[in-house]
Amino acid sequence: MSSIIFGPLLSRRFGKSLGIDLSPNKKQCNFDCLYCELKPAKTVDRYDDIISVDNIMHALQEALSLHKDIDVITITANGEPTLYPYLGKLINRINDIKGNIKTLILSNGSTIGDLNVREALAKLDMVKLSLDCANDKCLKKLDRAHEGLNVADIMQGMLDFKAIYDKPLIIEVLLVKSINDNIENITALNHFLTKLNPTRVDVGTIDRPPAYKVEALSYDELKGLVSLFDLSLPVYIVSRKTADKRVQKYTNDEIIQTLSNRPLSSDDIEILFDEDTKHRLKDLLNSNKIKIKSYGGVDFYKLP
Ligand code: SF4
Repeated sequence: MSSIIFGPLLSRRFGKSLGIDLSPNKKQCNFDCLYCELKPAKTVDRYDDIISVDNIMHALQEALSLHKDIDVITITANGEPTLYPYLGKLINRINDIKGNIKTLILSNGSTIGDLNVREALAKLDMVKLSLDCANDKCLKKLDRAHEGLNVADIMQGMLDFKAIYDKPLIIEVLLVKSINDNIENITALNHFLTKLNPTRVDVGTIDRPPAYKVEALSYDELKGLVSLFDLSLPVYIVSRKTADKRVQKYTNDEIIQTLSNRPLSSDDIEILFDEDTKHRLKDLLNSNKIKIKSYGGVDFYKLP
């Protein structure tokens, strides 16, 4: 059997993370996304290869006894972790032993319409759900969703979840060239996300070899599309691999002007500002003309 536990992985955002793979033996997913980094596979709406909660807990406890300084336990799968039939029970067992360690799940968001899934996820410290498409045609084409899944149920499920969950909820939008990067999709996603009001929106593109032949967007293209999102949404551009550094000198007024348009993440600052501008950014910070606010673990520079 492949390993149920992976890591620890170091992440700038969460610190040291141990991953739990709920489907270590094969891909079990209700999506078969064009951009998936796993091989294409027929979609399923339930797991048939199921690891017992006891086995997972045994592996987790063993890993935690080896690594004493874990900050976060991340629940994932080779596929969709919320299809694991004993998710609620597993999360209860993890919560019993985790102490101060945070818990996070990375889900494709497709099952959030299910009350049992919402109740299970509500017991985690952070939840990250994907939402690439604002209509069913796109869901079928890009995420190649299992029959019966539809955007209306997913969006309503997200709203219902947000109503009961006051911890960080992060929505991830992955954009693929000529598939879901059109203005209609972005505008409709923005409309929904403004209503949902998640802690943060992560917008990215393909940065690993995809299952099917699809193309990534450039950093400029991502940035252009992100500018269509409502200013009230903390949007974080994730795709670092496609980001070319294009540092420039900004005057203090230009820094303020830029931040008044949209808060910038630390990564954006690295890409946009030259060393001198970064120093002056610090001065502006020290004199309280700007401030840093963390949204779900990502720092954004913004006006007070
Ligand atoms: S949801 Fe994740 S695992 Fe499933 S097909 Fe899409 S990218 Fe792959």
